[in-house]
Amino acid sequence: MKEWRRRNSPGGVELHEFSVATGVFHAVKEKLGEIKGVRKLKEVRVLVGELTFLNPEQLKFAWGVLTEQDPLMRGSEMVIERVKPEGKCPNCGWNGPLETEEDPSYHFVTPIFSCPSCGGEIEITRGLEMTVKNIVVDVDEGGGEGG
Ligand SMILES: [Zn+2]
Repeated sequence: MKEWRRRNSPGGVELHEFSVATGVFHAVKEKLGEIKGVRKLKEVRVLVGELTFLNPEQLKFAWGVLTEQDPLMRGSEMVIERVKPEGKCPNCGWNGPLETEEDPSYHFVTPIFSCPSCGGEIEITRGLEMTVKNIVVDVDEGGGEGG
């Protein structure tokens, strides 16, 4: 799993947020298909690692645009939980939080951290995730009553 070294395209930050939101959209749509009697998606909660450098406002904006067309998902709220970066050293076993700086180049290249204990290369264990944590939906309780 070294895919996290993938680079974002410079200048394509907004597009990147949009493509990430599209991925979430499809994942949530699939989940909604598995739940019986879904009437409405109310909320989608996502975990966004700080090392993804995704812009939460852009993500929410993209979510609004994407869900606009979908009767089940229209008006749902995207709630973003930021995940602090953490790492571990395969060499000496050190693990702990990783310090990030406000370096604009981080937006295009995943930074490589070195171990504060032995200087070896750190494996990032948290901070690169972009996953759906859970969704909140309104479901038909089977009664069929209007509301
Ligand atoms: Zn180390």
